[in-house]
Amino acid sequence: MRIGIFSDVHGNLEALLVVLAGLEAEKVERRACLGDLVGYGPDPGACMDLIRQRADVVLAGNHDHAVLGLTDISLFNPYARTAVLWTRSQLTPAETSYLAGLPVSCSWEGLCLAHSSPCEPAMWHYVFSLEEAETNFHCFREPICFVGHSHSPAFFVQEEPGRVVCRQATRLDIEKGKRYLINVGSVGQPRDGDPRAGYLIYDTDAARIELKRVAYDVAATQAKMARAGLPRFLIERLAVGH
Ligand code: ZN
Repeated sequence: MRIGIFSDVHGNLEALLVVLAGLEAEKVERRACLGDLVGYGPDPGACMDLIRQRADVVLAGNHDHAVLGLTDISLFNPYARTAVLWTRSQLTPAETSYLAGLPVSCSWEGLCLAHSSPCEPAMWHYVFSLEEAETNFHCFREPICFVGHSHSPAFFVQEEPGRVVCRQATRLDIEKGKRYLINVGSVGQPRDGDPRAGYLIYDTDAARIELKRVAYDVAATQAKMARAGLPRFLIERLAVGH
């Protein structure tokens, strides 16, 4: 089976459409969205509706919770806070209640899924270092856990208990006896220096994971953000992927 996994769409409809087209072309049978459907971009409702229709499982992220008033936005930077408040004003009651029903982590198709990390998933911890990854391997039982949240793709491999390494690659062969903690990157606001929309394909028969990047019309999203009055910093960062 081919599974498509994507995260951190952040209301960027142009990026989401190219990712969904990519998943179609890749003939995936199941799709998972790991949260942050909304929260920076100009099309929160349209993105949410599409994700709801096309994904088999959908998680909520910290920006979704911020829009719902479940996370303290005084800890957000001022740009993110402005975008959260704007997004909150755009959603219909039905969209708000859909967001409120989403879990922050789950077990699905024998995989662990979480927006931020498998340890305390509603505390929104980041997994950047080997030490953080090592801690998180204790918080799930499945062989593979997929996360989003940092907007930077990453492969952490537990070669054996107590030995975790980070692999720099776009492809990873899944080996029996090893465990994996994988960040799928971001659809709508990548921060690894590559502005293209990111997603991931897991082919369970081939036991292979592949990170994908696809270009989208960044200028169209930026123009919509400018019309909506969203912060210039958020508009400009889309072009550089930071
Ligand atoms: Zn995010």
